[in-house]
Amino acid sequence: MATIVVCGGGPVGLCTAMLLAGDGHRVTVLERDTSPPPAAPDAFTQWLRPGVAQFHQPHTLHPRARLILDEELPGVVDRLTDAGCVWIDYLALMPPLVRDRSPREGDERFRVVTGRRPTVEAVLAVAAMEQGIDIRRGTSVAGLVTGRSVLDGVPHVTGVRTTVGDELHADLVVDAMGRRTKLAEWIEAAGGSAPVTESEDCGFVYYSRYFRGPKVPPFVGPPIVELGTISVLTIPADNGTWSVTVWAASSDTALRNLRDADRFDAVVRACPMQASWLDGEPVSEVLTTAGVLDRYRRFMVDGSPVATGVAAVGDSWACTNPSAGRGITVGLVHAQCMRDTVRAHVDDPAGFARAWDEVTERDVSPFYWNQIKADRARMAEMDALRAGVAPPAPDPNTKAMAAALLRDPDVFRGMLEIGACLALPEEVFARPGFMEKVQAHAGGRTWDPPGPDRPALLELVGP
Ligand SMILES: Cc1cc2nc3c(=O)[nH]c(=O)nc-3n(C[C@H](O)[C@H](O)[C@H](O)COP(=O)(O)OP(=O)(O)OC[C@H]3O[C@@H](n4cnc5c(N)ncnc54)[C@H](O)[C@@H]3O)c2cc1C
Repeated sequence: MATIVVCGGGPVGLCTAMLLAGDGHRVTVLERDTSPPPAAPDAFTQWLRPGVAQFHQPHTLHPRARLILDEELPGVVDRLTDAGCVWIDYLALMPPLVRDRSPREGDERFRVVTGRRPTVEAVLAVAAMEQGIDIRRGTSVAGLVTGRSVLDGVPHVTGVRTTVGDELHADLVVDAMGRRTKLAEWIEAAGGSAPVTESEDCGFVYYSRYFRGPKVPPFVGPPIVELGTISVLTIPADNGTWSVTVWAASSDTALRNLRDADRFDAVVRACPMQASWLDGEPVSEVLTTAGVLDRYRRFMVDGSPVATGVAAVGDSWACTNPSAGRGITVGLVHAQCMRDTVRAHVDDPAGFARAWDEVTERDVSPFYWNQIKADRARMAEMDALRAGVAPPAPDPNTKAMAAALLRDPDVFRGMLEIGACLALPEEVFARPGFMEKVQAHAGGRTWDPPGPDRPALLELVGP
């Protein structure tokens, strides 16, 4: 069995640690933030987590996360519901035009339990502690310790150094330090090549507000609705709370008054499908987030790893614009890949590095690239609508899919599978008969959700 240090005790670091410890490895988690998790529902107000800038922003989990938790960490989903998290059945959002509403085998896969991020993370942290994992809070990693190389010219990581100068030795160092990880710089400082990196501001700004009430408002349509130059996201959360998020292009400065609670509420009230989500007691001001980076890294350059003995998981590997709310779910997929790769290559650091790159590229990176593609298309549409010109024509398959999912139960399920991270678009589109069902509705009417047009929106947000 291996000695493994996981740097970072966010949701992905904690789950990776639990999966690896479940295989019998000696796992230590080093977390920079000092506070331990308080019990729900106080985690949202009481837990100090300065290491995670988005800690209080609305988060949701997708059904794939629930399936992974059920499969790998039995009992965690029950703990989430005990902590006040709520079930969502995405199949219940089937559009009214779908006539065949009979249940199908496997429909259970569309159900998920979700809650506010602090509540979810607190549950994961307690589960990890109860599994006996050594979580050292208040321990900040400052750099890598290296030893004799296993590949010529490639640094081999044998541990980490903390900010107080302690060294912890490990057979494998897992970087789960999130978006702001310094791993690339540390590898270069150890003499390794720079990883392949693509990084840019996603270009969106988020305005979010939390509410509380005796009953979470029911969905009147999908959780995310695109309304011209804004999108609106409604998320049920734990303990009678929920959130409403409006996002726009950060260059759309005319909308910056959305940070004012009255104007934010006025805009949401003008959206007939989301207005009822204001029917509660507001429990936050409008929380604003901008400057979110899309960043992808590949730690294999010209067929050689940039370092051995170290691997990045979750946001430290790649992170995107969070509008689809997939970061934790995709991070759990990655955590599962990590456990399997360690299982297969525990005594072979070079083999591990190659296999880790391969599985990450094959099974996880498509989520990243699909998100980037969708974001760029949406940004181009928002920019065009703002400029008063026709938006770029959507890809014909996407357009046909948009019409078909309103009417065909299999296409609707396929779309849900993609959104819930249960399958990649290419897998769903390659299924026998699926494209025919999509094409049967090509040219069909698509959905035009109700909401304020641009002049009305500008009037609502004011000068
Ligand atoms: C506005 C916004 C909204 C989002 N909404 C959603 C959503 O709805 N659903 C979803 O799934 N995802 C969402 N995400 C993405 C999600 O927050 C991330 O994908 C998720 O946090 C990744 O988890 P992680 O454990 O990899 O990293 P993080 O959660 O960032 O955790 C990293 C941990 O490492 C610690 N750390 C950092 N440096 C060090 C160091 N030197 N030494 C020791 N510890 C260190 C930090 O303190 C932190 O605890 C959103 C992101 C943003 C920005």
